[in-house]
Amino acid sequence: MTGNACKWYSICPMRRFYRKGLLDRKWIDEYCKGDWHKCVRYHMEAKGQYHPDWMLPDGSLDESLRGR
Ligand code: SF4
Repeated sequence: MTGNACKWYSICPMRRFYRKGLLDRKWIDEYCKGDWHKCVRYHMEAKGQYHPDWMLPDGSLDESLRGR
């Protein structure tokens, strides 16, 4: 990567889930290291709006990640 990753990648729970093998790589490739500007999490973070750790970049909730 050449510095195009999302600025919140290092602290984002999506990174943690991915490293634990709980999250499909497609999310990282498509959003975190791709079009992060289309990530729902990104915009909610920017606005200071609450969003649960188990909310995926497209805004859907993945209950299987809850509490992981
Ligand atoms: S899930 Fe969204 S906010 Fe989190 S690192 Fe990926 S692009 Fe950034």
